Amino acid sequence: MGNRTLAILKPDCVEKNLIGQVITKITEAGFKIVAMKMTRLTEASAGGFYEVHKERPFYTDLVKYMTSGPCVPIALEKENAVEDFRKLIGATNPKEAEEGTIRRMYADSIEANVVHGSDSDENAAKEISHFFSRKELLENYG
Ligand code: GDP
Ligand code: MG
Repeated sequence: MGNRTLAILKPDCVEKNLIGQVITKITEAGFKIVAMKMTRLTEASAGGFYEVHKERPFYTDLVKYMTSGPCVPIALEKENAVEDFRKLIGATNPKEAEEGTIRRMYADSIEANVVHGSDSDENAAKEISHFFSRKELLENYG
């Protein structure tokens, strides 16, 4: 059981001015912020991040959406981080997400669903290093 996960407050979250509310939900759920930045993804960076979805019909739209404005990647720490964070954000499609989850509360569509969460410990480690250097993590750790 790992203790870190990667969240991204996606461009729709930033655009709708929901950064504060969403971070409050995250920290109130017991997650500690280990590293955070605001950045605008390039096509190459977004494409690489979502490489696993390359063959999916929504891939081109997904890359377009993720590069449409700034986003906020956040490395989070908590016991059982990956699973607990997926529970906190809810299902990919906000219509299917449970009451009280971040996506249910704030998301507009299956694409513009406010927040990303890693789906395994292995991917969490990869995704955190996609955005944060070892030095950035060490400097912010503890
Ligand atoms: P997640 O792990 O819950 O974020 O979902 P996935 O890994 O399956 O998909 C990655 C992201 O692609 C989602 O968060 C959505 O932003 C987008 N996405 C997923 N499924 C669809 C879809 O059927 N249509 C569109 N337009 N976007 C999708
Ligand atoms: Mg996923």
